[in-house]
Amino acid sequence: MGSTQLTGRVIYKGDLGYEEAIKNWNPYVDTFPLVFVFAQNARDVSNGIKWARENDVPLRVRSGRHALDKNLSVVKGGLVIDVSDMNKVTIDKRKGLATVQTGILVGPLVKELALNGFMAPFGDSPTVGIGGITMGGGFGVVSRSIGLISDNLRGLEMVDAKGRIVTANAHHNEDLFWASRGGGGGNFGYNTEYTFRVPRAPETATVFNIVWPWDQLESVFRTWQRWAPFVDERLGCYLEIYSKINGLCRVNGIFLGTKTEAVRLLEPLTTTGTPTQVDIQSLFYLDAINYLDPPQPIPEQSSQSVKFSSVWSLDLWSEEPISIMKNYLEEATGTEANFFFENWGGQIRRIPKDKTAFYWREPLFYSEWNASWNQPKDEARNLASVEKVRQQLQPFVKGSYVNVPDQNIKNFGEEYYASNFERLRRVKAKYDPENFFCFPQSIPPAP
Ligand SMILES: Cc1cc2nc3c(=O)[nH]c(=O)nc-3n(C[C@H](O)[C@H](O)[C@H](O)COP(=O)(O)OP(=O)(O)OC[C@H]3O[C@@H](n4cnc5c(N)ncnc54)[C@H](O)[C@@H]3O)c2cc1C
Repeated sequence: MGSTQLTGRVIYKGDLGYEEAIKNWNPYVDTFPLVFVFAQNARDVSNGIKWARENDVPLRVRSGRHALDKNLSVVKGGLVIDVSDMNKVTIDKRKGLATVQTGILVGPLVKELALNGFMAPFGDSPTVGIGGITMGGGFGVVSRSIGLISDNLRGLEMVDAKGRIVTANAHHNEDLFWASRGGGGGNFGYNTEYTFRVPRAPETATVFNIVWPWDQLESVFRTWQRWAPFVDERLGCYLEIYSKINGLCRVNGIFLGTKTEAVRLLEPLTTTGTPTQVDIQSLFYLDAINYLDPPQPIPEQSSQSVKFSSVWSLDLWSEEPISIMKNYLEEATGTEANFFFENWGGQIRRIPKDKTAFYWREPLFYSEWNASWNQPKDEARNLASVEKVRQQLQPFVKGSYVNVPDQNIKNFGEEYYASNFERLRRVKAKYDPENFFCFPQSIPPAP
């Protein structure tokens, strides 16, 4: 036993607030930690790390509770240092910089920035935490225009494995700064503050939402993949193809330009099949953000357990992967099951692959798919179906996205980080040589 005491808002198993504290967005990852520390400042984070070390208790850090696989931001019988009470934002309008504590969610953050006339490549899934998403890269529909979330990171403050508060930026601890832009959450230290570059938002933007009946998915997908990665880079969009029982596919996104131009650019899509809805609107930037992320209460916990996996596509999909997707969606029984794609390129691709730890800059598009279930009896079948698709898609795709982790991936270093993995291991060896921050698929220190 050491002398360090836990500080901050401390909630033990059995205390008031514990039942709320154990809930994560994905019930699939929920477990029963021994104690939560809701840190109020970096000192509380430091005390938590020292306490866990002195008492030999496993620990994790959590921000927005959106981890997509088990044992990453929560741990059974351990300490969870949760930074969500730390959510201050300071905007330096003259320098175009926003300094944010890591506990804020991306929805409120992107809206506050838009209110002040700035844009940021996040906010499309408003309940995600800035703490986790930044470390793995992070993207949204304006990323083709302004890069990944991590590309806009200018500096950070974190607490290391010894409980010391350290900072990193382009001039100080540059190796840590490099690793923190794509290396994945929780590996090097627990972050308490990020500083981002925030570009000026245009006064208006065009947003769109196009919906088709499910059975047109093949022609919609074929058109989308030939168009989206190559279209004007001011246009970013998602293609979501839901399970057959949900009965639809849709494309929505943003174009940082006029409605007239957008209507012309979107023509290949609007003339494919028979869309049941075509909505294209020019709005003030803040209203455009509200359109993509409507101001309505969004459940903080998904009603179903969900399992995801993800891949990158460097080539267009032939008929074979398209039929793998179709068969999967035909058979999926969960209401949240879908395939999701986002177009890549533009500013994301302009940055060299080794400039930051985020490697996957050359794909044409990003893809993920998921299965969902309510009853524990359905879990094994759904997990197996997601894994089966991953196996089937392997010949046609590359790698995987570290922010959508999948513990079925055995060679995760290669899949998440490719040629940046060895350098990440060396940074890990420097900042956490004892591998104190160890969890499934964490980066092992270089020998
Ligand atoms: C509904 C949904 C929508 C999503 N949409 C997008 C999207 O549009 N774009 C995209 O890029 N990704 C998206 N993601 C993936 C998302 O980037 C990851 O789930 C991300 O890790 C979530 O971060 P969090 O802080 O909310 O989660 P948490 O569960 O709090 O943490 C997730 C991981 O980050 C680490 N971490 C958290 N806080 C810190 C910290 N302060 N310091 C160091 N490490 C930390 C944790 O240890 C854990 O490994 C989405 C996920 C979900 C569930």
